[in-house]
Formats: sequence, C-alpha cells, structure tokens
Amino acid sequence: MALRVEQDIFLIRQRGREVAAAVGLEHQDQVRIATALSEVARDLLHAVGGADVTFRTELDATDGRFVLWVDLAPARPLPGDRYEPASGAVARLVDTLSAVQVGGDTVVRMSRRVPANAQALTPDRLTELRAALGTSAPGSALDELAEQNAQLIAALDEVRSQRDELAVLNAELEETNRGVMALYGQLSEELEETNRGVVALYAELDEKSAQLRAASESKSRFLANVSHELRAPVTAIIGLGRLLTDSASDPLTPEQSQQVELIRSAAADLLTLVNDLLDLAKAESGRIEPDWADVDLRVVFGQLRGTLRALSARPEVTLVVEEPPTPAIVRSDEVLLAQVLRNLLHNGLKFTERGEVRMQARRVGDRWRLTVADTGVGIPPELHERIFEEFYQVPGTSRVGGTGLGLPYARRLVTLLGGNLQLASEPGRGSTFTVDLPVDRT
Ligand code: ADP
Repeated sequence: MALRVEQDIFLIRQRGREVAAAVGLEHQDQVRIATALSEVARDLLHAVGGADVTFRTELDATDGRFVLWVDLAPARPLPGDRYEPASGAVARLVDTLSAVQVGGDTVVRMSRRVPANAQALTPDRLTELRAALGTSAPGSALDELAEQNAQLIAALDEVRSQRDELAVLNAELEETNRGVMALYGQLSEELEETNRGVVALYAELDEKSAQLRAASESKSRFLANVSHELRAPVTAIIGLGRLLTDSASDPLTPEQSQQVELIRSAAADLLTLVNDLLDLAKAESGRIEPDWADVDLRVVFGQLRGTLRALSARPEVTLVVEEPPTPAIVRSDEVLLAQVLRNLLHNGLKFTERGEVRMQARRVGDRWRLTVADTGVGIPPELHERIFEEFYQVPGTSRVGGTGLGLPYARRLVTLLGGNLQLASEPGRGSTFTVDLPVDRT
C-alpha cells in the first residue's frame, strides 16, 4: 500500500486491522497493530512525505508460531537513517518496532506474534486471505473514524470493568489480610498461652522429680541402715540356735530341738532377705562401683557350672552350661556378672519341675548375648515387667521360697555393667532371660 496523503492514514489503519484479523490476531491485538501502524504512518508522512507499506507473515521455527511483520519503506531517506516515534507509547503496542536496513535502505519495521491456536497460514490460506482483502472495498475516513470510536469505547469499557474488578479484588485482599492478621494474632496468643503452660508444667515436673529422687534416696538409706542393723542380731540368732543343738551342749527334748530348728530356719530366711535388701539398697544408692576387667566368660561359666550343680536337686531337671565360643572375653566385673547369672540359674532351677535349664553365650556383633533358658512354669506376658519390681512374686510361686528381690537386683547390676536384661516367656513353655552386654565399654 502507498502512503502519500493524510487520507491514506485511515486506509492503512483499516487495512492493518483487517490483515491482523485475517492472520488470526485477537481483537485487542488488531486494535494495537492498527493504532501503531497509523501512528508510524503519520510520523513518516510528516517527516519524509510518505512510505510504502508491506504486510508479511513468517513462521518462527523455534516455537512454530507465525509472526506478522509490517514494513514501512519511507518515500525519502529518514534524517540520520533513524526513526523515533513521536509518541513513545507506540512501541509498547507491538512486539518490536525499529528502523532496520533492507538492501541499503532504512525501513521502519514492526511485528506482532500470532497466537499459537490461530489457523495455520499455509500458502493456500494466504492466497485466500489476499483475495478476500483484495475484494473488500476500503471504507471512507468517516467509516474508519466511527470504527475507531467504537474501539475506543470498547477499550474504555474494558478499562473500567478491569478497574472495577481490581477494586473488588483489592477489597477482598484487604479483607483476607485482616482475617489472616486476626488468625495470626489468635494463634500467637494461643501459642504463648501453651508455652506458659508447658513452662509451668516443666517446673512442676522438675520439682516432682527432685522430690522423687529425694524419696528414693531416703528409702535406699533406710533399707541399707535397717538391713545392716538387722544382720548382726539375725546372725547371732542363727549361731545361738546352732549352739543349742550342738552335741556338746545339754541335750534338748525332741520337742525343743524341733522348735530350735524352726527358729534357725526362720532366722536363715531373714538373713537372706536382709542380705538381698542390703545388696539392692547398695545398687540403688549407686554405691556399687564395678571393678572393670577383661573377664573370661569360660571361667565364669565353669565356676557356675560347678557351684550350681549341687543346687539342682531334682533328677528330672538337667543343668546345662554350654562352653562359650572363644575368644570369650568381655569388659565387665566378674563378681557382679557371676552374681547376675547365678541368680538367673537359681530361679530357673527353682521354677522348673522337669526338663532342663540351659545357659549359653553368643557373640552378636559387638555384644555378648548370655541366655538362661528353662523349661519351667513360665510367666504370663502381663507380668514380664512386674517381676522386675521389688518384692513382686508371681502369685502361687512364693511357696518355693525367695524374697522377690533377685530380679530387680540383677537388672540393676546388668544396667550398671552397661547392658540390659530382658525376658521372653509364656506360661507352661518355660522362660528365657537374656543378658545383653557390650563387648567393650567404649
Ligand atoms: P524370688 O525368686 O526371690 O522370688 P526374683 O526377683 O528372683 O525373686 O523373682 C521374682 C518372681 O519372678 C519369682 O517369685 C517368680 O514368680 C518369678 N520368676 C523368676 N524367675 C522365674 C523363672 N525362671 N520361671 C518362672 N518364674 C520366675
């Protein structure tokens, strides 16, 4: 198209819009390109007296979208071969707007990308569009003015509705903000309240555990003192009883010697209890300090095998102390460890009517696992922890004797030796006590 007189500006504007519509640009973009085109056309008409306008489409290979190019070749060279639009806003209406060199001439070129969803611009389609544009008669300047006014009104409408929408959105945002702030305030208040509660709770807990510690300490002190004080008189009773029944003493009537025997056996039970209490009190008050050494489990097992064989009075029960695999060295206290195992073996023999009591040592990684398993009465699962409480005896088992202090003491000792003592048992299927000890203390 040729731009020569003012009138042509309207024509070019109109054509620009038609071409933009034909290649698939959206309505707003049509108005944008038409407006940009008429502005540049006016600039060039005034500056150099006119221009030749060419519309061109090209496929952008990078994203498969078409680009509408509009070249305006000035009728005379532009001063300084430069183009600066009179209104700076024009450049914002299109994707690109600049003066470029084409075959030694300066051309003003603008472009706008066609949306991806527009109909593909095949050569056939372009021929069709060109034919359609060729037949459409150009309207008058008045028509174009009317069209432009309609677009302006539409654009103003659009702007107003957008402004209204924005106002509504702003109001909503403000409302939401107020809500969020209120919620935040409420939450931080609740958090503070909870924190205060937790702090108070901790203070109370600290106080309670201090009281508990004090109570436990005085209990241990009491037990230690009482049992210590009892030991001497009880030992004296046993000694005196033995003296009374001694053949060197005056003979007693059968009735008397039976009574003295009863006194002696009661005193012996009492001494066991006193000794157990003393042990436990010592362990609880932390007065037992292990004598750490490299302990050979084979030696410990050998000694226990010897001393306990005498205890297994029932012929229906076999005591099996297996030989530990070598090297059987553990960092521990030999006396304390032997005490624990003796206790467990003793219990096993006490609560097993027939079958066997078996002690084993197994190395599992960097730990020793020592087990004492019996085929005895077993212990109901709900009592597995209770039997580690002081004085607790499974109902019905107390007739075999004992104080109920052996297991709590054993567990204390094992803990002191850096290990733990566990139980697996079922009524009627025997019990297995496991002492798990680290090979080394580090
Ligand atoms: P004691 O044996 O002196 O009563 P313990 O603390 O050693 O005290 O054991 C507590 C209770 O646990 C025992 O009275 C008994 O009821 C139960 N118990 C311990 N060892 C076994 C075992 N090997 N089989 C069955 N019951 C057991």
